[in-house]
Amino acid sequence: MHEPINHPGSEAAGPAVIPRTEHRLDPGQISPSALHVVGRLVDQGFAGYVVGGGVRDLLLGIPPKDFDVATSARPEDVRRLFRHSRIIGRRFRLVHVFFGQEIVEVATFRRGNAGTERTHPQFETTASGRLLRDNLYGSEREDAFRRDFTLNALYFDAVQGTIRDWVGGFDDLRDGIIRLIGDPEARYREDPVRMLRAVRFQAKTGFPLEAATAAPLRRLAALLTTVPPARLFEEVGKLLLFGQALRNFTGLVDQGLLKPLFPWTAEWLEADIEGMHRALVERVLRIADETPRERGDQSLILILSGFFWGAARQYMRWHENEGMDSVVAMHRALHILMREQQKHVSIPRRIVDPVESLLVHQIRLDQGTAQPAASRLLHHPAFAASLDFLRLRAQVGDASADLETGWRDYAASTPVETSVPGSDHVRRRRRRRPRRII
Ligand code: ATP
Ligand code: MG
Repeated sequence: MHEPINHPGSEAAGPAVIPRTEHRLDPGQISPSALHVVGRLVDQGFAGYVVGGGVRDLLLGIPPKDFDVATSARPEDVRRLFRHSRIIGRRFRLVHVFFGQEIVEVATFRRGNAGTERTHPQFETTASGRLLRDNLYGSEREDAFRRDFTLNALYFDAVQGTIRDWVGGFDDLRDGIIRLIGDPEARYREDPVRMLRAVRFQAKTGFPLEAATAAPLRRLAALLTTVPPARLFEEVGKLLLFGQALRNFTGLVDQGLLKPLFPWTAEWLEADIEGMHRALVERVLRIADETPRERGDQSLILILSGFFWGAARQYMRWHENEGMDSVVAMHRALHILMREQQKHVSIPRRIVDPVESLLVHQIRLDQGTAQPAASRLLHHPAFAASLDFLRLRAQVGDASADLETGWRDYAASTPVETSVPGSDHVRRRRRRRPRRII
């Protein structure tokens, strides 16, 4: 048992040092580039450790996304030591060291605001306690305590082969628990995104949240509305595009965190007595979890279509009741919905436009193959994805299965005109039955 030290102790006490014989972290699994960076820093007399998610994942037997390095060297020193490097970041400055495609992120030890005068200009906070800036350099110990969860604050010393643990993270990792460092409420207030990270690491590791870490989530969920929407989009991407979308979504709903991110989706799901929309959303999330990472945008388009479909159709019906044509009403509904949604999570146009197109197409497809414009729909770039979405709706009972197969048969039996590039010759050929992609 290593001393539980989940509070800023004295520097003199030092960290628990876990020897090679007690941890099973194999340095052979760390990227040689990260080890090279650490080696060079240490040679120059600086402290340098591999830290954060990479160390955590290796100890858990999960392939790490990347390896970060923490050091006592200042960004300018790091920049000078590595020719292929660049200083980045406004909120805090980091150095990216380039090894071909690979980037090793090197961060100078810095401190959080625990125990610091709140009036210190470097620790400017908002009324809710959110940190606007936290770029004061600090010691290794301070660097450990400003991190979020104990299992994210382990420092691998590549020279000694040991793990340095200031916060009891090694025991928490072994016991399988996710614990926020320090006072949970204060840490969530400083940075509400930590609430989303709690859910994400819970899904990723399968570990429960420690009671005090979980307790404030519901109560503080609304603080997420104070986070800039662009930062939330980044976090939403991490939640939904790395193979754990369904588990993360379940975690968000359970902790009341979906509402501040996607209020219309959350409200719609609450009102969904028969569970049809929940089933639709779960289906799109499952598909996203099976989709290769390179197709992230397509996954997000599908997920958000599932998120917005229910609410958009409801608003569409209101407009229809005012006498608007269905398709125009859907455009209008989506326009307003997306405009409001952007105030919470800013979703780029490259995602929003296809989502709108896919959902408007549902209204067109619902009108069946007998409509005059039916054959024109087949040529629309959104047709295949829209038909797949219709299929999901049919699977959860939101559309008739006959409608979906009717469209596929219609597409298969409708000749399309294709012109051969460079000639005036127009060929007529039979269109193949659209392949199902989901
Ligand atoms: P992932 O596998 O998603 O990359 P990660 O733990 O590496 O997980 P990063 O966002 O890459 O997450 O951050 C690297 C490290 O920086 C974390 O392990 C943690 O120690 C620290 N960190 C990141 N975000 C925060 C935050 N909001 N508050 C405090 N510490 C943070
Ligand atoms: Mg990381």
